[in-house]
Amino acid sequence: MSNPVGATDRTKVRRAPSKTVNEREVVNAILDAGLVAHVACVVDGQPYVMPVGYARVDDKVIFHGSSASRLFKALAAGQPTCFTVTLLDGLVLARSAFESSMNYRCVIALGTCEVLEGTSKEQALLDITEHLLPGRTAHARVTAPQEDKATLMLALDLNEVSCKVSDKFPEEDPDDLVDIRYSNIWAGIVPMKEVFGEPIPDPLTVEKGIPTPDYVKTWER
Ligand SMILES: Cc1cc2nc3c(=O)[nH]c(=O)nc-3n(C[C@H](O)[C@H](O)[C@H](O)COP(=O)(O)OP(=O)(O)OC[C@H]3O[C@@H](n4cnc5c(N)ncnc54)[C@H](O)[C@@H]3O)c2cc1C
Repeated sequence: MSNPVGATDRTKVRRAPSKTVNEREVVNAILDAGLVAHVACVVDGQPYVMPVGYARVDDKVIFHGSSASRLFKALAAGQPTCFTVTLLDGLVLARSAFESSMNYRCVIALGTCEVLEGTSKEQALLDITEHLLPGRTAHARVTAPQEDKATLMLALDLNEVSCKVSDKFPEEDPDDLVDIRYSNIWAGIVPMKEVFGEPIPDPLTVEKGIPTPDYVKTWER
């Protein structure tokens, strides 16, 4: 096993600690399976949580946005953040509404971002594109200087991390399991997964008769 994730006082799971996962491999697999992270910043005392695309590279996550974005400017200036990735795996139906829940894999990382510049930024742009659109970097037009200037690239070290995984049948109120009425209620898990649909070419692609690239046809979740 590689180095476990660091549970500090701030990231030690206290509620439902049996769902805690400490293995770095599991954390990495969750981050590699996700496409969207929710990133927090506080502006004038008001917390905001923004969804962003991201990629994991070794022990960092990287994400990018407009140089004019409030979120990105605040984080580039050194504001601490909370970066969360959630994969929803199913709805968990207990016999009671109270015990019903969701199955999930979730990673939270705390820290302060580093601004990537120069060749690290160029590489990070390729890494994000390859994570979100595998195969596309070899095919798409490269980033122009003015596009590069308009983009802020941030990296967050995965040093202070927590991970919770919920993958069980529902916990039940013991009385419900023997109650003549409630024990006859259907209970279990309704699995959920993200899927890609059939690619839809845009009008110019149709007009030019451009075939769907093989790498797009292979995408699956
Ligand atoms: C899809 C989904 C739906 C959920 N729905 C609910 C809900 O409806 N009600 C509810 O009470 N809870 C829900 N949870 C669980 C919720 O995320 C928290 O774990 C829970 O509310 C306890 O929060 P806390 O701050 O009291 O936990 P604490 O255990 O006190 O948190 C301490 C530290 O543990 C870590 N931690 C806590 N939760 C998570 C997590 N989910 N993933 C990774 N690290 C974590 C963080 O680092 C946090 O700082 C849901 C989770 C997911 C992923």
